[in-house]
Amino acid sequence: MDVIYRYDPFAPIVARQIPDADAAISELVQGNDRFKSIVDRMQQHTLGESTGEPMILPMSPMTWGLPLFPGAVPTQAPFAAVLGCSDARVPTEAVFDQTFNNLFVLRIAGNVLGSECLGSLHYALRNLKESLKLVVVLGHAKCGAVTAAVDTNLSPDAYANIACTFPLRSLVDQIQIAVRGATHALETYLGSPITDKAAFRSTLVAVTSYVNAAVSALELQRELDLYDKEGPRVVFGVYEFESLRVQSSPEFRPEEPRLRSAPRNAKELADYAFEVVTEVMSLDNRDLESGSLMASQS
Ligand SMILES: [Zn+2]
Repeated sequence: MDVIYRYDPFAPIVARQIPDADAAISELVQGNDRFKSIVDRMQQHTLGESTGEPMILPMSPMTWGLPLFPGAVPTQAPFAAVLGCSDARVPTEAVFDQTFNNLFVLRIAGNVLGSECLGSLHYALRNLKESLKLVVVLGHAKCGAVTAAVDTNLSPDAYANIACTFPLRSLVDQIQIAVRGATHALETYLGSPITDKAAFRSTLVAVTSYVNAAVSALELQRELDLYDKEGPRVVFGVYEFESLRVQSSPEFRPEEPRLRSAPRNAKELADYAFEVVTEVMSLDNRDLESGSLMASQS
């Protein structure tokens, strides 16, 4: 299988057109689909399946967000700001197939919203207003920070090392509201407290990954509304390793938004948490009693 980058200096230059939030969402979703398509084809080839013709990827300094001629310095003009996790397996630009000068990226474990993060976003809003159309919270499945928060919640006695380390604790503490929301939704779905069931932990991690992204999005939308009600829209999604997709529901459905608008209040957040629980529980015929939920986070 050949993957060919091809540069034609005489090809017409098409300027990027991202006039509004919908166009920004569309570009990110299409970029995630491009990333998935390329990886899918390579994985099929690994299995010995025919992948047909070479894959030709047109490229130029312009499409890479770089100057066409030597020595020039580009003006910073990202169309979206992304708050993502530091996890090395989820590089923001690669997941969305974006390049230089497209995204203003903030990465912190658990994609939580700290004051420094917020300061960076305010900088972007103030100085990059012309180009910035969207703010995205990007969570991911099997997140170590989310897992630490879940474990701290389930077994507080075993996590003295986190409790005594202020910087780490401040991260984990911020995820607790998502853990509690996910726990409440799971208990509502199942009808009873279930913290002693074998597979509860991994299910709670799966649900909390989505709820945590929604919580950060809700907080961020409120903060940005205080600054400017006409500012960029906030959306959120979660990267799933198996599907390679960014999606806002555990069960992928093409008709549903891949990047969903931030919940506006506690009720919308709670409704979303219950929706996520319903989908997680329906996937793979999950059964808490048999402990057959998804593999635990290592
Ligand atoms: Zn993470």
